[in-house]
Amino acid sequence: MAKPLIIVESPTKIKTLKKYIGKDILGLKIVVHIRDLPVKNLGIDVDDNFKAQYVNIKDKSKIISNLKKTAGDTDEIFLAPDPDREGEAIAFHIMEILKKKDRKFHRVLIHELTKKGITEALSHPTQPDADKYDAQQARRKLDRLVGYQISPLLWQKVQRGLSAGRVQSVAVKIICDREREIRAFKPEEYWTITADLEAANPPVFNAALIKISGKKAKVTNGEQAHDIVADLEKARFIVLEIKNKTIKRNPLPPFITSKLQQDAINRLRFSAKKTMVVAQQLYEGIEIGSGGPEGLITYMRTDSTRIAPEAAQEALDLIRHSFGDAYALDAPRFFKNKNKAQDAHEAVRPTSVYNTPEKLKSFLSPDQFKLYDLIWKRFVASQMAQALIDQKSILIEATAKYLFSVSGSTTRFDGFMRLYETQEKKSETDIQSLPPVEPKEQLTTLKINHDQHFTKPPPRFSEASLVKELEKNGIGRPSTYASIIAVIQDKGYVDLINRYFTPSELGFIVNDLLVGAFPNLLDISFTAQMETNLDDVEQGKLNEVDLLKTFYSEFKNTLDNAKDNMVSVKGVGIETDIKCPLCGKPVNIKIGKNGHFLACTGYPECSFTSNYTRDEKGNIDIVEKIQASEPIKDCPECGKPMVLKEGKFGLFVACTGYPECKHTESVAQENSSKDTGVPCPEKGCNGTIVEKHSKRGKIFYGCSKYPDCTFATWDKPVNESCPECGSPYLLEKETKRDGKILKCPNRSCGFKKSILPVSEK
Ligand SMILES: [Zn+2]
Ligand SMILES: [Zn+2]
Ligand SMILES: [Zn+2]
Ligand SMILES: [Zn+2]
Repeated sequence: MAKPLIIVESPTKIKTLKKYIGKDILGLKIVVHIRDLPVKNLGIDVDDNFKAQYVNIKDKSKIISNLKKTAGDTDEIFLAPDPDREGEAIAFHIMEILKKKDRKFHRVLIHELTKKGITEALSHPTQPDADKYDAQQARRKLDRLVGYQISPLLWQKVQRGLSAGRVQSVAVKIICDREREIRAFKPEEYWTITADLEAANPPVFNAALIKISGKKAKVTNGEQAHDIVADLEKARFIVLEIKNKTIKRNPLPPFITSKLQQDAINRLRFSAKKTMVVAQQLYEGIEIGSGGPEGLITYMRTDSTRIAPEAAQEALDLIRHSFGDAYALDAPRFFKNKNKAQDAHEAVRPTSVYNTPEKLKSFLSPDQFKLYDLIWKRFVASQMAQALIDQKSILIEATAKYLFSVSGSTTRFDGFMRLYETQEKKSETDIQSLPPVEPKEQLTTLKINHDQHFTKPPPRFSEASLVKELEKNGIGRPSTYASIIAVIQDKGYVDLINRYFTPSELGFIVNDLLVGAFPNLLDISFTAQMETNLDDVEQGKLNEVDLLKTFYSEFKNTLDNAKDNMVSVKGVGIETDIKCPLCGKPVNIKIGKNGHFLACTGYPECSFTSNYTRDEKGNIDIVEKIQASEPIKDCPECGKPMVLKEGKFGLFVACTGYPECKHTESVAQENSSKDTGVPCPEKGCNGTIVEKHSKRGKIFYGCSKYPDCTFATWDKPVNESCPECGSPYLLEKETKRDGKILKCPNRSCGFKKSILPVSEK
C-alpha cells in the first residue's frame, strides 16, 4: 500500500517538516493557490447562488499533474497549509483535484513548526473545515463583486486603470476624512505659565499653573499672560499639599497580529507588509545549528492572546533563573480575549523561550533578529512581575488666586519593564525628580516663564496608527491589515510622506465619487458589520449564500444608480469655487491623460485650462502657465538661447541647442536675482529676501543666504514695519474676502491693512 502523503504550501515548511517526520509518512509537495477566480471576467454566477467559476491557474498545470502523479494510489492525504481561512481554501482546492474513490483527506493544523507542534498536529488530524472555507469564499466573492464592478465604472467616469476595493476604499476614506479635518482646523492660541522654583533642598523644579481663582487656568492671549506674570512676580509660592502614591503597572499581553505590526512599525521602522514577511520566515523555520530548520515563533496571524500553559510555565522558569525570584510570578499570567469564539490560535510567541535572542543572533538575518527579539521580549515580559512606580505630586499656592502643580515619578521596582517598556518615554518634564518639601514651606521663585502655543490639528495616520484605527473600528482581520495598507499605496490614492499618509488629489476625487455613489459600502460600521458576518459564516452561524444575496441585492441597485448618476470627471468635471481668469465662468476639475487639471466650463468659447495645486487649507491655487518659448539667457556653453522647461522634477532651464548641447540649469539659481530689498528677519542673518520658484513652479520668498539660512515664506515680504508689534516687515497677501492686504507675520499680532479695494464680484 502507498504511504500517506502530506501536502504543504511552502518549500521552507517542507524542510522543517522533514526534520521531524519519520519514514512512515513521506511525500511532501509544494502547492500554492492552484485554483482561483478567472482574471478576465467576474467569475461569479450571481443568478445561481453566487457559484464561483474557478479555473486552474495556468502556470500551475504542471504542478497539478505532478501532484496527481505523486498522490498515485495513496488512500490517505494530510493537508497541512497554514492554519487560517486562506490555508483552508488551499486545502479544499487540493481536495477537489485529488478526490478519488476510497481516498481519505485529513486537515492538519500546525500552529508551531516544532517537534512538539508537528507531532501534536499529526496525531490529532481534523476534517477540512467547510465553514472556514465558506468564510474565505465569501470574502473573496464580496471583494470580487465590488472590485470587478466598481472599477470599470471608475475607468468610464474618471480614468482607465483605477480600482476600488471593498475594504481598501474605506481605508482611503479614513485618510481623506482626517486630511479634511486637518485642513479645516483652526488653531487656537493659548499660553502656558510655569515657574522655576527652589525649595530648601535641591534640585530646582518647574511647576505649571493649573488653576486661577479655583477654575482651570485658561490663558488665551499675550496680554493676559503678561498680567499674570506681573502678578506672580510679586507673589509668594507656598507648598500647599504633597501627595505620594505607588502605581502598579502590568505588562502588555503577548502579541496579536495587529499589535505586532504596530510595534514593529513604531520601534523597528518596518512596514506592516515587511513585518508579516519576516514573521512568516520565523514561523516556517530557520536553521539554528545542526539538524535542519525549526519554527521559531507560533503562527503569526492571530487575534488571540491565549497562550499554552506549558509555554507560560517555561517562561516563568526562565525568568526565575535569569532575573531572580522577585521578577517571577507564582503562577502564570493569562490574558482575557476580546473575542472568545475565535480562540483556535495562540498569541504570537517564541516556540521556546530558551531560544533567547542572543543565542539565535548568529543564525538570523538582521531583520529576523530584530523582530524575533521584539516577540521574545514581549512574551517573556508578559509573564514577569508588575512594575512599581512611586508618584509624587506637589500642589503650590501663589497667593490665594493661583494654583501650581508639579509631579514626578521614580521607579521603585522595574519588574517587566526591565525587558519591555510599555510606553514611549515621556517628555522630561513628566519624569523630573522632585526635592523633599514640607507643607507650608515657602519656595524661592527663580523665574516665571510664559510661552505661546497654538492648538494642533489631529495627526495624520502612520502605518501603525492606521492599523490601530482599522482594528478599533473592526475593519480588517489579522490576515488583511498588511495587504490593505500595501494596496492603498500601490494604487496611488495615498502617499506615505515622512511615514505619514496624505491623500493624493486623485485619492480625494475618487473617494468623493465613491462616498457619494456608494454611501453604505464606504461606511465604516457597514464594513465592520460585514467582517462580523464573515466571522459568523466561519462559525457556521450564517450561511454564505444568504450573506452574499443580502449584500448583492442592495449593491446591485446602488451600482445601477451610480452608472447613471455618478459625475463624469472626464466629461463634465467636478465643480470648484474658482472663476475663470479669462471669461469669469466657473472652472471645473477634470482628469485627462496627464492627470488632474482645471478647465473652464465656458468651453468651447473659452479654452482656459491650467494645472493646479492646493495650499495647506485645501484651497486651489492655479499654477501659471509657463511661457516655454521665451528665451531667458544665452547658453554659457554654446551661445544659443535658453528657455524654461518643465520636467519630471519641476522647472529647469534648458538650452534650445538640444540634443547637440545638453546644458541645463536649475531654476533656483536662475531666479535668485529678484531681490525684494527686505532684510532677512532671521536673527544674526545679513541676507536679503529674494523671489524663488518652488519645484512645482510656485513663487515663494527665501533668504539669499540659502542654504546657510533657511528662512522662507509663501507671501511676499514688504519693507514696512508693523505699527502694532514692531515686526520689521509685513507680508503681502491676497484673499477673496479682503482683496490685497498687508499683514503682520506675527500670528499673535493680527495687524492687517488693505492696500487695494476688494475686487468686484
Ligand atoms: Zn473661461
Ligand atoms: Zn547650449
Ligand atoms: Zn537669512
Ligand atoms: Zn505686528
